[in-house]
Amino acid sequence: MSPDLERLIKLQHLDTRIDEAKRTIASQPERVAAADARLSAAKQAVDTAKQRLKDSQDARRAAEKDAAVYQGRLDKFKDQLSAVKTNREYQAMQHEIATAQQELGAAEEKVLERMMEGDAIAAEIKQADAIHATRQKEVEAEKKALSTELTATEQSLKESTSARAALVGELPKPLLALFEQVARVRKGVAICMATRDGLCSVCHVRLRPPVFQQVRQNDAIVQCEVCNRILYYIPPPQPVTPPTTVTS
Ligand SMILES: [Zn+2]
Repeated sequence: MSPDLERLIKLQHLDTRIDEAKRTIASQPERVAAADARLSAAKQAVDTAKQRLKDSQDARRAAEKDAAVYQGRLDKFKDQLSAVKTNREYQAMQHEIATAQQELGAAEEKVLERMMEGDAIAAEIKQADAIHATRQKEVEAEKKALSTELTATEQSLKESTSARAALVGELPKPLLALFEQVARVRKGVAICMATRDGLCSVCHVRLRPPVFQQVRQNDAIVQCEVCNRILYYIPPPQPVTPPTTVTS
């Protein structure tokens, strides 16, 4: 293969790596933010459940106060019952007692409902807390991995960039210009393989036989007639000849 073609293949490889590294680096803040968002969603679930528990407890205390008021009223009526003189008074008092009892029953029912609700919310909080703790560990590990990846990617980018600069120095200027011009219009891929059955491996067009023939020589710059990418060819591996047994 011509040294220039080999250099172009290397250049393509470096450019692809540089491009990937840049994209990885650029996506970093977004990935960190996504991890943080997952954590704060878990925290939010805990806070929301805690607020619901507080509301429920407030409601329970209010119901308990009501119950105490009705209980007090009931006790008072019961005390007064022994002091009534007439049958009419007695009946009226009985009526008051029945009403107070009903109110007390309803308030106690509410207290009980709130108690059960509180238990259910407490269980939810426990679960949300567990999820939050798990998420915290996950996100911590994820951010650590992201940071490690960032360091490695930055290093790789640095290496690729200086390797590219060195390689570019070895390339004839017009060839580099051609490569970069094709790369610009072809999503960064300026050179690609021709398949063994004579197709451009990227745009899949069938190369005309004389073009394919020329590409197979690997000694000139030949471009795909459709996508303009520079083409090279990798011959099929030679069948392995079994080692000859030396008999003496
Ligand atoms: Zn093509």
